[in-house]
Amino acid sequence: TNTSLAEIGLVGLAVMGQNLALNIAEKGFSIAVYNRSPSKVDDTVERAERENLSDKLTGYKDVAQFIQGLSRPRKIIMLVKAGAPVDATIATLKDLLEEGDLIIDGGNEFFTNTERRGKALQTDNIMYMGMGVSGGEEGARYGPSLMPGGPKSAWELIRPMMEKVSAQVDDGPCVTYIGPGGAGNYVKMVHNGIEYGDMQLIGEAYDLLRNVAGLEVSQIADVFDEWNSAELQSFLIEITAKILRQQDDLVQDGSYLVDKVLDQTGSKGTGMWTMQEAAARGVPAPTIGAALEARFISALKKDRQLASTVLEGPSFAAESDPDMKKQIVADVRKALYASKICSYAQGMNLIKTAGTDGDWGLNLGAISRIWKGGCIIRAKFLDRIKAAYDRDANLPSLLLDEEFAAELIGAQASWRRIAILAITNGIAIPATASSLNYYDNFRREVLMSAQMVQAQRDFFGSHTYKRLDKDGVYHTRWSTDG
Ligand code: NAP
Repeated sequence: TNTSLAEIGLVGLAVMGQNLALNIAEKGFSIAVYNRSPSKVDDTVERAERENLSDKLTGYKDVAQFIQGLSRPRKIIMLVKAGAPVDATIATLKDLLEEGDLIIDGGNEFFTNTERRGKALQTDNIMYMGMGVSGGEEGARYGPSLMPGGPKSAWELIRPMMEKVSAQVDDGPCVTYIGPGGAGNYVKMVHNGIEYGDMQLIGEAYDLLRNVAGLEVSQIADVFDEWNSAELQSFLIEITAKILRQQDDLVQDGSYLVDKVLDQTGSKGTGMWTMQEAAARGVPAPTIGAALEARFISALKKDRQLASTVLEGPSFAAESDPDMKKQIVADVRKALYASKICSYAQGMNLIKTAGTDGDWGLNLGAISRIWKGGCIIRAKFLDRIKAAYDRDANLPSLLLDEEFAAELIGAQASWRRIAILAITNGIAIPATASSLNYYDNFRREVLMSAQMVQAQRDFFGSHTYKRLDKDGVYHTRWSTDG
């Protein structure tokens, strides 16, 4: 009978898929699940039993039976590895589906792949969406931030479910229709780029507190806890304090685990995509770029080990005066906050530019609101961004919002002191310094470095130039004799 058919299906039962399936079941929706390798179906069914959700979740090892177990129009979320596995999964589903059915890719897919697949499926009248799912394992299980993109009519089919499945915050569920095509994947990609920036900025703040302010690890944990109660309140600040309290449980020598972690950062590609997109669209995103490059330089462990014996610099002069320590901590806090504003301004401007290019009709305020819960960058700060876009939906930059502008101006003395201290001590702060450079470049009416570069371009390549004082396009036969 029809009542035994599941309201939604999910393919791909690795970390994300398994947890999202249990979340959907827990919110009261019947769900059918399938995975290429049958063992993950067993795992999921067993977990559903343990969590008393088996009346809502049915596992299938046969894809045809899985499809038959879904009520029409069928709605199927895929959570498989991005790229070829998504194409392979679509191929196994496609011939079993009928007109009006809907496939939703919940993975971190590059947006043009979603647009290509959506177009290809249109010929069979199968609807297709790309929906960013953020928040990792815990978000998927208890409420993620969801960024759905694709046909609006497809969104309406899953909207009631997704509004319950997503994280809930004071002003509603952490999901909103983003826009057509690959808009949802795009916003998720930039979310991850912003996440790279936040993490690197926090990493730099930690380094400064430890090696310039000269604080003990436990004191730094306290500092992050304190910061988590005010303007910097966020999931990443919160877990940083927790990380700093963790003792090494493998080699129990009383040391902090963070000191044993190999200093090489992994990455899976969304940060790289963000920078490729920023470059392709000519949107400056130096803080996110610095965060990505910091991961690349961390990968050069062997070369860095050699370099540490060859290349000299100042030795870290940790502050010992208690009042000065306090001053540095206060300065780092302001530098971190100001840098974070710049990083978000870059990410939001990339989203805005892509939205304009693709005619996506994006609502930047609504997008920042759905990041308030469920996702890795969740933070109090996002209320401020939403408020800035509420004040002016067409804000050219968050830096120009009256409140953020006032905060940046108020923070700049601290920010500059920190940059000087870091450079003097030979401690790299690529993301913090990139933010400050972004601020200083952006606020300067006439960029003399750009005047020189454009003049050089005309000198050697006849690329022409425009003038500040007159209209028109000019080329000069620059004097070549000394
Ligand atoms: P994953 O490791 O990215 O993917 C594993 C899943 O993909 C398994 O179900 C696997 O099936 C399937 N798969 C791999 N190759 C396949 C192929 N050629 N044909 C069919 N299926 C194939 O899983 P995940 O970590 O749960 O992530 C799922 C998606 O969510 C990814 O796009 C990921 O980037 C994104 N995401 C992950 C996180 C996270 O914290 N992990 C957070 C946000 C978003 P088998 O079991 O048969 O191998």
